[in-house]
Amino acid sequence: MSSTNSRSSNRNSQRCAFCGTPHPQGRLMRPPGQPRGGICFDCIRELAAHVADRASRKRPASAEPGSRSREDRVVPAVADAPQPPSPPQPIHVPREIYSNLDAYVIGQERAKKTLSVAVYNHFKRIRSEATTSGIEVQKSNILLIGPTGSGKTLLAETLARTLDVPFAICDATSLTESGYVGEDVENILLRLIQAADWSIPRAEQGIIYIDELDKIARKEGMNRSITRDVAGEGVQQELLKIIEGCIANVPPQGGRKHPHQEMLQINTRNILFICGGAFEGLQEITNRRLSTGSAMGFLAHNTERNGKPDAAPITSEQVTPEDLLEFGFIPELVGRLPVVASLQPLDREALVRVLIEPKNAIVKQYQQLFHLDNVRLDFSDDALIAAAERALTYQTGARVLRHIVEDALLDVMYELPSLSDIGRCLVNRDAINGDASPRLYRRSGGRYVTLKTALAQAEGRPQKRSA
Ligand code: ADP
Repeated sequence: MSSTNSRSSNRNSQRCAFCGTPHPQGRLMRPPGQPRGGICFDCIRELAAHVADRASRKRPASAEPGSRSREDRVVPAVADAPQPPSPPQPIHVPREIYSNLDAYVIGQERAKKTLSVAVYNHFKRIRSEATTSGIEVQKSNILLIGPTGSGKTLLAETLARTLDVPFAICDATSLTESGYVGEDVENILLRLIQAADWSIPRAEQGIIYIDELDKIARKEGMNRSITRDVAGEGVQQELLKIIEGCIANVPPQGGRKHPHQEMLQINTRNILFICGGAFEGLQEITNRRLSTGSAMGFLAHNTERNGKPDAAPITSEQVTPEDLLEFGFIPELVGRLPVVASLQPLDREALVRVLIEPKNAIVKQYQQLFHLDNVRLDFSDDALIAAAERALTYQTGARVLRHIVEDALLDVMYELPSLSDIGRCLVNRDAINGDASPRLYRRSGGRYVTLKTALAQAEGRPQKRSA
């Protein structure tokens, strides 16, 4: 795609309803008759892989779909026979958690450290409840503040995988006060129960990630829709109930459309809630407070040196509970999110690292795909830099990187399986910018050829020598 094209596709693009990445028109899959919205092919692939992975795991016989109806399958497990708590797993120590996060998440060191300690304390708290002792330790629910595509969801997901606990994600903007149209808060719990393969005790120790929490802040003067309250206290109050710990009744079929269905009961006391959001505008609130020299931040040691505010740019680590109240949150909810970590925007170097360093880095994944076709895939350094630079123009952090690489490789991936003599593919800056195809090298050696030349030769058409 030329840079001109890339600009126009940017303008005409639509966002995937799952990952939020902008895609050119026609690259989203949507239900028939729907003119807008849809899911991108990356997400479809990821969902397919996820479904295959889940299907391959052994389910308890009572949870086998098809063997009984969903209500039959689930309700007796709760109502008739409380399941024994699973045997205590060893608690991961913070260093262990950190190094697992580090294998997948680039940068964000402070956030990784904060999460590692919070999660360690969380499981210690659960464990100590069973054994000791008078002192009640508060749950360490976590608030992640950082721009889009900086790794908030990735951190939460990686954490759940590291700890091998069920994990569910939801978007705060899709939640509504019960009784209003939209997704009920209990549906989040249903998703967690599904992720726990319908084991309530397992779900009760899971992790829920609530994205875009900032979008349900109260906003002065905001027009409220009559059918949905997505920006008011109502949703915050609903969320508060499950975050602070309650016995929730969850409709197994989701929503409240089936008033007579039996409910699943789940205790949310030990579920770890991680909330995330970009919190645009919070910075100004914090700046204003710091300039008037009032209350100290959650991480006050970062905000002041020698009793004076830091000269360095303010980070969200300096945010105080008061700032969050001013942003539009109710005090009770702020109080239930005692651990705050900020994530920094990813710069060009960080984006290059995202492409190549994580265990499942995008470049490694495509190399593996090509390897399965017996082709070596290489990226030149300037290709990686070009991809990072293009990603920066979208302002969606690392989210769009996969799409950029896919875009550069799509034609080659389409044709390569029919071109048996190609042994190597080299992606350089021109290929990333859409100015040329990746370079293809034959197994027999010799100069590289373009895709067009390789195709023409394969079809026995006369061609000019490639440049
Ligand atoms: P958000 O902060 O908006 O929740 P995500 O965690 O969903 O961002 O990031 C979207 C994708 O971008 C991830 O799936 C991952 O591929 C990539 N990504 C984002 N941040 C990082 C990071 N810090 N390290 C590695 N990959 C990242």
